[in-house]
Amino acid sequence: MKPFKLGGFEVYFLEDARFRLDGGAMFGVVPKPLWSRVAEADAQNRIPLTIRPMLVRAGERWVLIETGMDDKQGEKHRKIYGIEGAGRLLEQLRALGLSPGDVDLVINTHLHFDHAGLNTVSRDGRIVPLFTNARYLVQKQELYDATHVHERNRASYLPENVEPVAEAGLFEEVEGEVEVLPGLTLVPLPGHTLGQQGVVLRSDGRTLVYTADLMPTLAHAPLAYIMAYDLYPVTTLEVRKAYYPAWAEEGAYLATPHDPGAPLGRLVRDERGYRAEPLSP
Ligand SMILES: [Zn+2]
Repeated sequence: MKPFKLGGFEVYFLEDARFRLDGGAMFGVVPKPLWSRVAEADAQNRIPLTIRPMLVRAGERWVLIETGMDDKQGEKHRKIYGIEGAGRLLEQLRALGLSPGDVDLVINTHLHFDHAGLNTVSRDGRIVPLFTNARYLVQKQELYDATHVHERNRASYLPENVEPVAEAGLFEEVEGEVEVLPGLTLVPLPGHTLGQQGVVLRSDGRTLVYTADLMPTLAHAPLAYIMAYDLYPVTTLEVRKAYYPAWAEEGAYLATPHDPGAPLGRLVRDERGYRAEPLSP
């Protein structure tokens, strides 16, 4: 696997599980005749998605953004979401000569099971953190919400992905925008959840944004293409309006977590509004 170079950073676009979610829920108020032009639904109206963790070599450090999905939840969970290939992240790290112990920083954009599944693994009947030498960076608000669930978010926050990491003292809670390494900044992107964060890499005048679920796939770039899963959809809209002009103007690379086709895209604006074009890294 060859890295994508962004100035001094080496970026690896990994791909963990493929899965399926309801197409209507994925596109919110957008009617099916519109969204079905960009995503093909199966007999259960589900569209194909993937989870794409991003690995960054920053100087001597290895930074992993998102941990993908795990198999801890078993067959029923796998069936509901059509999950295939959970845990492929580990093979991809191995192919790069890395073991989980080599990862220095894990960045959890938020703690939903499709993003934070391999925060932990099952070993000898116990659930334990996987990245034992890493600090797991998460927004304080997100960790609070993941540990104080309600009926509307309970299906997404699974305690087994969160509690063992907290008990081991591996979470490092951050608040607001924080440059954690030179050129690597955590940026709050609320809307999908209140405590969601994205990651911005800047080097040699180039910018790459890991969008988290502010833009789950490139097809979600248009301002109103907001998931019904978002807890605060109007906040999603406001955050998009705050960042899109700069991202389009500087030609920022956008890495989305769930695009089934391309790991990278770029925002373009025309007379009909914003859309994203796929790029091959
Ligand atoms: Zn997601």
